[in-house]
Amino acid sequence: WNMANIRNFCIIAHVDHGKSTLADRLLEATMTIDARNMREQVLDTLELERERGITIKLVPVQMKYRADDGQEYILNLIDTPGHVDFTYEVSRSLAACEGALLVVDAAQGVEAQTVANAYMAVDQGLEIIPVINKIDLPSARPEEVKKEIEDIVGIDASDACLVSAKEGKGIKEVLNAIIEKIPSPKGDPKAPLRALIFDSIYNNYRGVICSIRVVDGVINKGQNVTFMATGRNYQVEELGVFKPDMSPVEQLGPGAVGYIIANIKSVSEARVGDTITSAERPAEKPLPGYQNVKPVVYCGFYPMERDDYPNLRDALEKLQLNDSAIVFEPETSAALGFGFRCGFLGLLHMDIAKERLSREFGIDLVATLPNVVYQVTKKDGTLVVTHKPSDFPEIGDIEEIREPYIKVTVFVPNEFVGKVMQLCQDKRGNYISMDYITPERVRLVYELPLAEFIIDFHDKIKSLTRGFASIDYEHVGYKASDLVKVDILIGGEVVDAFSFICHKDEAYHRGHAAVKKLKDIIPRQLFEVPIQAAIGKRVIVRMNIKPLRKDVLAKCYGGDVTRKRKLLEKQKEGKKKMKQIGKVSIPQEAFLAFLKTE
Ligand code: GDP
Ligand code: MG
Repeated sequence: WNMANIRNFCIIAHVDHGKSTLADRLLEATMTIDARNMREQVLDTLELERERGITIKLVPVQMKYRADDGQEYILNLIDTPGHVDFTYEVSRSLAACEGALLVVDAAQGVEAQTVANAYMAVDQGLEIIPVINKIDLPSARPEEVKKEIEDIVGIDASDACLVSAKEGKGIKEVLNAIIEKIPSPKGDPKAPLRALIFDSIYNNYRGVICSIRVVDGVINKGQNVTFMATGRNYQVEELGVFKPDMSPVEQLGPGAVGYIIANIKSVSEARVGDTITSAERPAEKPLPGYQNVKPVVYCGFYPMERDDYPNLRDALEKLQLNDSAIVFEPETSAALGFGFRCGFLGLLHMDIAKERLSREFGIDLVATLPNVVYQVTKKDGTLVVTHKPSDFPEIGDIEEIREPYIKVTVFVPNEFVGKVMQLCQDKRGNYISMDYITPERVRLVYELPLAEFIIDFHDKIKSLTRGFASIDYEHVGYKASDLVKVDILIGGEVVDAFSFICHKDEAYHRGHAAVKKLKDIIPRQLFEVPIQAAIGKRVIVRMNIKPLRKDVLAKCYGGDVTRKRKLLEKQKEGKKKMKQIGKVSIPQEAFLAFLKTE
């Protein structure tokens, strides 16, 4: 087992700086994939990833490269997800490497996620090779970008690789730098087995396939292994490497990157960050850094068609086989019927799940407004952790409400600084710091409530800055806030699915918007229907829907009995899809429309 000729590395970059394109070029240059099978961004496997141009799932690829010294090296490229929702997965894939290529766009320069990702790599003790990409662009300014990397990221960039991934320039230099600069793995082949799971995917035919990095010891086909976080035992059915197709081997030793298949039914049994050890000779301690990830954003998913409820449950279960970070439990709502309360790592994660449910499972659904997880201390001293507004204690029983905060870093051209600061203030942000990273660009740091961030912060900032701002955030814990639950009432009855939590000062404004919208959507009834927004018992907004004058039968003056019956039948049919809120019947579509246009 020759560790000296292995290099394990990943590519980190701000989105769109060219990570996937560079990976494609490396695969071509090492003839891992021949030109005939090459399509753009081969590593972005999920259809959704290709479309959105983001990497969600990681695929480790093994390349072979004969270097100028005449020796053959094994290069394992571990792709990392490119979005903050998946920070934990990024940190685990970094932990499987000794080095990282830090790709920076030669025209755009250092952006928020360049810094965040680079810091994470530094924390993991990785050797970082700066790669300045897109030097073919007329606006490329490689020398300035080198200086930005040195000033902002704080690493030496004097011999950064200058690359055009698009035109295939500088690729050989990158390969040589990987071999010269990234240390080979260190590990003890005689020690008890320790292998890190840095990804697990579910495959319909093979069950769960875990991507692993062997740190110590040797793993053999057929041996019994223990997953240390869950304590479960499995027999290794198949062991192999991705070339990038799965290619079985008998054994993997220290430093190796590959996969195992072991009759695992769901990815929740094979958690990212867990350590695999030998069942016969277990390691004393797992590898460091395992963390049980918890969802931070919750919302209700309801099928548009009532009959789709069982399908939705099946689909969520299948999605969970693939993505252990998704949680869900059944929930019923008077307005929306049967659905599920689902938890996600962030908004993008939620959007992806929603899109996959529709695309892969054909389920049309509505999502209720997303909310964060609140901690409520009651006057009697008990703590309530709520995943939905309807779990909130009565207003009179509440002593204190705490909400999650994030630290947001925004990189922005200085002409937009004023607008971004205003937005952060409007979102209840606390100013932390501001500094010039170049004469033209500013780094702003604010602490914001996560709840404000998830509403529309991203979209707002992109439109305010014409797309020139880049954002990164991290969670910084819970803080007390002056929050209230606003209920929406139709005909005097609370509609559970529409309640929301917001800051006291925002309650009127948001309550008014919701009431106005419902008033426009709900059809008139035979009697007047009040629509209200209320905090506890106190009504803060009220509007009335005027009654209808005539009933359906008034249209046909007595005579024709069959016509009358037909009309009544039709009305009955219509009633089936009606929801009864108190004595008001409202078509389900009205509720769905309310949420859909949100
Ligand atoms: P990722 O988000 O970091 O994976 O970035 P991609 O590899 O998807 O690249 C983002 C965009 O930049 C795509 O439209 C690429 O075609 C383009 N791109 C990547 N590398 C280069 C390059 O060297 N030169 C130019 N001009 N464009 C590039
Ligand atoms: Mg990409």
